Amino acid sequence: MTQFTRDEWKAQAARLRLRDLLWIDGKAVPAADGRRFATVNPANGQVLAEVARGAAADVDRAVASARRAFEDGRWSRKAPADRKEVLLRLAALIRQNVPELALLDSLDMGKLVTDAATIDAPGSAHFFQWHAEAIDKLYDEIAPTGAGNLAMIRRVPLGVIGAVVPWNFPLDMATWKLAPALATGNSVVLKPAEQSPLSALRLAELASEAGLPDGVLNVVTGYGEEAGEALGRHPDVDAIAFTGSTPVGKLFQTYAGQSNMKQVWLETGGKSPNLVFPDADLDAAADKAAFGIFFNQGEVCSANSRLLVHESVAEEMALRMVTRAAAYQPGDPLDPASRMGPLVTRDHADAVMGFIAAGRQSARLLCGGERITLDGSDAYVQPTVFIGAAPDARIVREEIFGPVLSIQTFATEAEAVALANDTPYGLAASVWTRDLDRALRVSDRLHAGTVSVNTVDALSAMTPFGGMKQSGHGRDLSIHSFDKYTALKTVWVSYGSAAAS
Ligand code: NAD
Repeated sequence: MTQFTRDEWKAQAARLRLRDLLWIDGKAVPAADGRRFATVNPANGQVLAEVARGAAADVDRAVASARRAFEDGRWSRKAPADRKEVLLRLAALIRQNVPELALLDSLDMGKLVTDAATIDAPGSAHFFQWHAEAIDKLYDEIAPTGAGNLAMIRRVPLGVIGAVVPWNFPLDMATWKLAPALATGNSVVLKPAEQSPLSALRLAELASEAGLPDGVLNVVTGYGEEAGEALGRHPDVDAIAFTGSTPVGKLFQTYAGQSNMKQVWLETGGKSPNLVFPDADLDAAADKAAFGIFFNQGEVCSANSRLLVHESVAEEMALRMVTRAAAYQPGDPLDPASRMGPLVTRDHADAVMGFIAAGRQSARLLCGGERITLDGSDAYVQPTVFIGAAPDARIVREEIFGPVLSIQTFATEAEAVALANDTPYGLAASVWTRDLDRALRVSDRLHAGTVSVNTVDALSAMTPFGGMKQSGHGRDLSIHSFDKYTALKTVWVSYGSAAAS
């Protein structure tokens, strides 16, 4: 992609046309009651747009539109190869609009525009393409019944999917749900996070331009307690695909239990451990450990927030982490020289500073720990490293979702594994060692959906992503993501072979 300067990004930002209405039945419409809410640019605290505040009546309209589309087969009964063509066109349109989509996410939630333009937006195109290309290569099954019976095991779309996503990767989290849900023939009602609604609205428009029939994808922007809850409780939604915090994930299970027992797939929080053994390449481990916690301001579900280091190399690693952290000072997210942006909101920066205050009581602060004001916004927080917190300290146990690393030490492999697993979460883990036996042995024992060895956050369209324990269940990405959006249906035909013979 063309590299833009800060001034060029700013000029493009000034020219953006922000979509600020709900997207229902292939049209941009206001909320039924006309209400709106402000979405704020955390880099300067200014209101970007007043966006339609969807609530229960709007969710009803969107679900009804999705249901009509599903039942009349305009998408659900299209041949997989035809759905593939539409989604490939969408991938191409996303590629053509990378700068715009990147800017929307950067302005809305503070991520570096360079990351959004080189990782998030191209990633979205890639994930749509990957799922589209996979969908006409999957075969159904015939059960081994014997003569006189033909039992087909079909994989069928579920119907109407409610996708509820967070603000940390607005375009990509929406894509992770939409690509497999749409490829398998479902209709979707997407509820983006209230902090970052803009890219989802543009994506819906691009999907329509790509040829996705009206009603197949609807976007209801609004608050979690309004639009989100209405979707979670809706009697005509077949499944919820949720990414967000663990407490809200549990609410969706309650909503389902109290309504129509819809399926609920959860990708929730994390407190991922990164284990460094003494034989590791410490420079590489430190580079990746810093990326693992400071990338995207640490607002990453699988952030490597706990660095567990063998005591014999703890001091060397701690020194390296301080040096690496220094390179991640926050700055203007539209400046290609910046390494971190602001946190998503002032409130979230308050919460992160609360964790840092607790950390100062329970551990030794190695670097960072301060809040910074830039361009009139105090949502920026320095990259922060603590060492020596007890296993029960808040900074060790709770998801901070900010640029705060906690280093702990261990003496034995067994202790390392025990510390790593001593958490309610189980999303990701990393292991650094040159000893293959140890790498595999430790990987076997870690409770995590993904274990990265000699890297962090290994992730691709080809491999499933998701959690164990209270990091959720179900998997995004890969062929396995189709499981969430389809049901197995048996069609048994008895054809009387005995009579004919
Ligand atoms: P959140 O749980 O506050 O919000 C996520 C979504 O749920 C938003 O759309 C929000 O509007 C909606 N919501 C909030 N309250 C609701 C309610 N009472 N009823 C219905 N819907 C409601 O999470 P967040 O702050 O947007 O995102 C951060 C969280 O997301 C972190 O915990 C992070 O670990 C998690 N996350 C997980 C993954 C993963 O794949 N496991 C990926 C990214 C983020």
